[in-house]
Amino acid sequence: MAYSEAAQKWREANRKTLAEKSRAYYKANRDKVKETNRKYILANHEKVLEFRRKYREAHREQIAEYLRKWQQENRDKKSRIAKKWNMANRDKKAILQLNRRALIKGNGGSFTSEEEMTLFAAQEGLCVWCRNPLFNSFEKSYHRHHKRPISLGGTSYIENIELVHHECHKSKGAHKQQVDTWLTHID
Ligand SMILES: [Zn+2]
Repeated sequence: MAYSEAAQKWREANRKTLAEKSRAYYKANRDKVKETNRKYILANHEKVLEFRRKYREAHREQIAEYLRKWQQENRDKKSRIAKKWNMANRDKKAILQLNRRALIKGNGGSFTSEEEMTLFAAQEGLCVWCRNPLFNSFEKSYHRHHKRPISLGGTSYIENIELVHHECHKSKGAHKQQVDTWLTHID
């Protein structure tokens, strides 16, 4: 076996160790390595460009394949993780947003998902406004409506929350009616 062939075999067999060593060296000597590389590239600019060009040409397909794979894997991974998190935290996220909005307004108040479950049970799973089930074939979720609007100083304590359909909540007339009811209530 020729020497270079043996060396190649050894490198392949110890690739992991070598990579770890070189990573550790780089970590410990980051600035030094960077400076050496920078100097080398500056002094051998043409050579480096030529080397890179040749390398790219020789490995065009591998590079394209590698990039494609990397993007695919990372896109899938990213969206998978995001999807999972959103599923697990959808309700928590919505509650946090409401609590935060009230906090920003200086109204204060907050509620937990447990408190919301109690409220859901108290409403018997029905929309407060239309009295139809919150979870029906059209709606899989609901809105947390502030009885006293945040804009009018309403807090995010559970006492100020009621659960309504998205559709009911979106309907301006219904919303205005609620605000009016509240305003006449405190008059
Ligand atoms: Zn409704």
